[in-house]
Amino acid sequence: MKKLILSLSAAIMIITCSCGQKEKADLVIINGKVLTIDDKNPVSEAVAVKGELIMAVGTTRKISEYIEKETTKVIDAGGRLVLPGFNDAHVHFGPLDPDYIELRYTTDPSVITEKVKAQVSRSKPGELIKGGHWEHEMFTDKRWPTKDLIDKVSPNNPVILSRADGHSILVNTFVLKASGITKNSIDPFGGEIQKDPVTGEPTGILKENAESLIITGEVKPERTAEEESARLWQGYLLAIKEARELGVTSIQVPGNGDFETYEKLRKEGLLTSRIDIGKSLTADTLVLKNYIEIANKYPKDGNWIRFGYLKAFIDGTIGSGTALMFEPFTDNPKTSGLAMMPYDEFENMVVTADKYGFQIGVHSIGDKGNNWTLNAFEKAQKVNGKRDSRHRDEHTQTLLASDIPRFAQLGVIASMQPTHCISDKRFCEKRIGAERAKGAYAWKSLADAGATIAFGTDYQVEPLNPMEGLYASVTRKDRLGETGEGWFPEQKIPMRDAIKYYTLGSAFAQFMEDRKGMIKSGYLADIVITDKDLLTISENEIMKTKVDYTITGGKVVYASGK
Ligand SMILES: [Zn+2]
Repeated sequence: MKKLILSLSAAIMIITCSCGQKEKADLVIINGKVLTIDDKNPVSEAVAVKGELIMAVGTTRKISEYIEKETTKVIDAGGRLVLPGFNDAHVHFGPLDPDYIELRYTTDPSVITEKVKAQVSRSKPGELIKGGHWEHEMFTDKRWPTKDLIDKVSPNNPVILSRADGHSILVNTFVLKASGITKNSIDPFGGEIQKDPVTGEPTGILKENAESLIITGEVKPERTAEEESARLWQGYLLAIKEARELGVTSIQVPGNGDFETYEKLRKEGLLTSRIDIGKSLTADTLVLKNYIEIANKYPKDGNWIRFGYLKAFIDGTIGSGTALMFEPFTDNPKTSGLAMMPYDEFENMVVTADKYGFQIGVHSIGDKGNNWTLNAFEKAQKVNGKRDSRHRDEHTQTLLASDIPRFAQLGVIASMQPTHCISDKRFCEKRIGAERAKGAYAWKSLADAGATIAFGTDYQVEPLNPMEGLYASVTRKDRLGETGEGWFPEQKIPMRDAIKYYTLGSAFAQFMEDRKGMIKSGYLADIVITDKDLLTISENEIMKTKVDYTITGGKVVYASGK
């Protein structure tokens, strides 16, 4: 409670300042289009910030009174959109590999050549060069890349660059040779060695199971323990940098994470996104008691590093045909998916952890998986009594129509990742059929039934960029901007709602809606300014929208320079 009392007393000070002059702000944003997500004051122009908190929201004229010429930092938004910072409610956040070549959004394939060349120059001969997230549909020529792009710059190093979906890779001749893959090699079951239609030579593209043929012949780099830990540290810094550049000021990690490293980062002033980290769901009361100790160390009334929720998996995925369904898969009637544990065992875990007061989040994909999750949460209410538990259904991918109203009834949060919809829709309908697909990624039906929705990405399965999630939720179209109305267009939502689920909805899911998720006096000053007006631009501009400023806790942690 300490922080809240402090902020309250700060607010009282502002009101009661008897000198006739307003207290001055540390930071002021003027001339913006401030989408506050506060229903009482939906749109405004300007924001004043003092320390970590928002002091006031109002017109540019009113907020300008908080400017002290010498000391107040003033950002002229120049009409740009000002939003609460994005809060990613489901993100597998952690250290990145500093040497990984990031190729997402590459449109010019020659960029791949340049990036590989640069990485080879930093590596010793024989060391593996890794990278990925390229998508040839985004290349200007839309053609599959070939080994010719990388062979000349990597004669003595194995190179593996995976496609955005992780289902195909591009390798160089070094790897093909080490693996013994030639024009005479036969495709393995469930895989393809792509070959040049004219010469019959392998192009360097290996699809699905063909990836298992790879022998890299790599020479492992020799590193001391100190070098390894420096690398890991570097990896954390890279991940945090990516988050702030994308305007993600809050991160909720499903399951485990290294509390101590984040604490160290925070102490050194390097943590620019707030983070919640959880633990795995269990019915073991000794372990639960240990969790309570950790939760006391990183309490819910903290604002930076907090203990989140207990995570479990009830089933698998639609893509791999392991989501738990009531009826068999349409394209594989032999199976209706897999439960990760028997229902009774799962229910016992939920009821036990609920009794100890924990918030619980369950990965639930299939209609039966989701049904089980709701049943277990309902049981916990019956056994332990109803409380403000805010248990979470992570993904909420396929629902029985009759389960949709239960979210509001039970107070269960639908924690959804909109980009899964536009990535999975290619195969979702094939797997489960059109009828069941009506209840898939059904955020509009959930919202209409009064459910609280929190948005996130499931990074690194999907990109961390919130613009992709916003695009997915308002269009339900693929990333190439397909024509038509989108996939099950009745589930599309307005941009304003999508932003709300990505800010206030996510804050509610972590018990922080009293101080985060809105641009409102007394709230934490987590704010982004975007270069385009998401509320008025055309669909194909949404994913091109960039963040110009990220402010976390009143500090400008990223500025694009524009
Ligand atoms: Zn996940």
